[in-house]
Amino acid sequence: MEAAVKSVFAAVGGWKPVIGAGVFVLLFAGERLAAAAPRPHIRHRMIHNLGLWAIVLVLSPLIIAPLTAYGANHLLWTRPETMRVGAILVADIVLLDLWTYWMHRAWHRVPVMWRFHQVHHFDEFLDTTSAFRFHVCEVIASALLRLIPITLLAIPFSHVIIFETVFICAVMFHHSNLRLPAGLERVLSRIVVTPSIHWVHHHAVQRDTHSNYATIFSLWDPLFASRSGTQRRPEMKIGLESVEDKPLLRLILTPFMRKA
Ligand SMILES: [Zn+2]
Repeated sequence: MEAAVKSVFAAVGGWKPVIGAGVFVLLFAGERLAAAAPRPHIRHRMIHNLGLWAIVLVLSPLIIAPLTAYGANHLLWTRPETMRVGAILVADIVLLDLWTYWMHRAWHRVPVMWRFHQVHHFDEFLDTTSAFRFHVCEVIASALLRLIPITLLAIPFSHVIIFETVFICAVMFHHSNLRLPAGLERVLSRIVVTPSIHWVHHHAVQRDTHSNYATIFSLWDPLFASRSGTQRRPEMKIGLESVEDKPLLRLILTPFMRKA
């Protein structure tokens, strides 16, 4: 039984890019058929998002994937075989999501980290492509810092891969402009981060930018007092207060410039 569960996990891991691409296509099409907010015409927005993603995509097999594999092979202890795989997998996903919540708070609150994370927040509208708009240094640093809970808790590589698959699907979903039935979104938002929660994190009002940090599970913000009281509105201004988006090269260089 355990071997069967393990082989399912391994298969999910191997299918990670396929699952990610499939969810991307569904959300990308869905938000065009049923949009929650009117799509403004912002030139080069998608080029910025996909351009930043292309850099991550090129460097991922060279840096990020080997980092994760290195961590998985240098765990501080070995979990006993008797630990039940299914329940432990859920616990690992919850713990890695909790780690991600505090990392996201740090990316906002530590000035040198904010220099990199603000590149994500310069986006003046949101859709599925916003999920890929991250500075490559933030992606590498996040993968490096994630090795701390992975090695301390001896999280198996297969669990990390499954977490990453759930994580990327969650990030695409909560950035998407998909219009969900109000009742469904209300029920979903009690468990997972929905667009209505995460769009407030991108509201161009400083108080809201520094709130709603959760990625997969929505409980962390109410639990740690970082949930904004703002309700998402379709005409809500997205981006950073009094800051405009920048050309692609500036986005890459801006964290290193004197005035970021
Ligand atoms: Zn953020």
